[in-house]
Amino acid sequence: MFNNHERRKFNQKSEHSIEKEWPFRLNFYDKSPWYEVTLEEFEKHALDRLRILAEIESSFARNRSWEELKTVTTRQFKDYLPLNSNSASTVDTQTERRNDHLGHFVLRLAFCRSEDLRRRFVKAETALFRVKYESDDARERELFLKSRDFQWNEVEPDERKQYSSELKALGKGSTVQQLEEWFEKEKFYKVRWTQVPDLVNKRRVLLIDGWAYVPSKEQLSIVLRAFEANLENALDRTARSIMRMDNDSRLTDVLNHMSRGFVAGVASEYSSGPATGDEITADMVDDLAKRHFPLCMRNLHECLMRDRHLKHFGRLQYGLFLKVLGLSIDEAVAFWRKSFSNLTDDKFNKEYKYNIRHSYGLEGKRANYPAKSCQQILLADKPGPSDCHGCPYRHFAPDNLQTSLLATYSSQGLTSADLAEVMRTVKEGHYHVACTRVFEITHAAAGVKKGEGIGEGESVTHPNQYAVKSIEIEKAQLGDAMVVE
Ligand code: SF4
Repeated sequence: MFNNHERRKFNQKSEHSIEKEWPFRLNFYDKSPWYEVTLEEFEKHALDRLRILAEIESSFARNRSWEELKTVTTRQFKDYLPLNSNSASTVDTQTERRNDHLGHFVLRLAFCRSEDLRRRFVKAETALFRVKYESDDARERELFLKSRDFQWNEVEPDERKQYSSELKALGKGSTVQQLEEWFEKEKFYKVRWTQVPDLVNKRRVLLIDGWAYVPSKEQLSIVLRAFEANLENALDRTARSIMRMDNDSRLTDVLNHMSRGFVAGVASEYSSGPATGDEITADMVDDLAKRHFPLCMRNLHECLMRDRHLKHFGRLQYGLFLKVLGLSIDEAVAFWRKSFSNLTDDKFNKEYKYNIRHSYGLEGKRANYPAKSCQQILLADKPGPSDCHGCPYRHFAPDNLQTSLLATYSSQGLTSADLAEVMRTVKEGHYHVACTRVFEITHAAAGVKKGEGIGEGESVTHPNQYAVKSIEIEKAQLGDAMVVE
């Protein structure tokens, strides 16, 4: 720990170095953070980055094209990790780049702990780097490339001449003249073939004596491979030194939480989930459930209607979901009283009413409990055989899930032909991606297309977000119908 004098000196030094520390928007993250951060910053910037990485993973799982992935990620950049080029004179680019730097290093700590996490982190980070690279200011990118040693050499004129016919074969052009023009303008780089195994594999380079001759249009491959190799080595080193940090429970709790979220394929969610903006009443719940709820809540609702009861974790998951959706405390008491129709008033008041009021912050600690996010439902309180809580995509046996999907959503357009795709995603462990696909299918009649998710390509990360979006779509449709009338 610093005393005040040391802290002042440290901060002055840090501020001074920050000014020059991030000359580029692109970063290979060679230097670990040397500046002080609060625990709040530590968590916030890592979570923001995790949201983007989780959406990149979802994009892979959803077989999105590169252009689609880029569009979704660029949009998320704006929300969670704005990063401007040097030409943006009115923006504090150094703070933006510091946030980027910090988030990356916190996630390195979270994801260095197993080989599977490291592999997934490298893949998602490399895609993130590529999105930044392709959207970077051309001049700034050029300077960035010059600032690093990628161990490539531009092919000298003599060599160009010597291998001109082979090099031209790498070009594109339907006529000899077009090919000649391309060759005149194109630069070629010479690197060890091990730096570009993907290009060698796709036969997009000329190979001579262990050297690969790479046209500049393929330069990105060299950069990405270098980024990957750099990060793989850094993660190995971090994994070896993490033991020293494992004593600090303040940090390990945050890191464990993040890596668990990534395992479930969903970024951490602390928010209570979006509300509809409208109040709902006890009498509306049954109808809303049938038209707008995700499978986890549909299942809870059906268990409740069938058994006239729900166990503790089921009541908690469903009760908080309904609260955030807009069910007031009075309506909640009315809803649960009506649903528990096998109980006497006395038993209901003594054993259940208190808990309902508690979840609204009216009893006990008086905390306003948020609704559970997908990550919490996927990972916490694993349901037993007679429980109804949890996420069906994760916790149902495959046969039961297929039967349940057809029984629940066939009236909304889901057919047995859709099951193969949904079940493949479930098998790969991308439960929220399967849920997102079901949202798209069941809202196709309202114009939702494959890949659009719950809006602008986003995947489902919260049951309330699913329900709210579904209600919004219906409202928009009704609005359109009224205009036509
Ligand atoms: Fe519910 Fe989330 Fe599972 Fe969908 S992915 S069923 S919203 S927990």
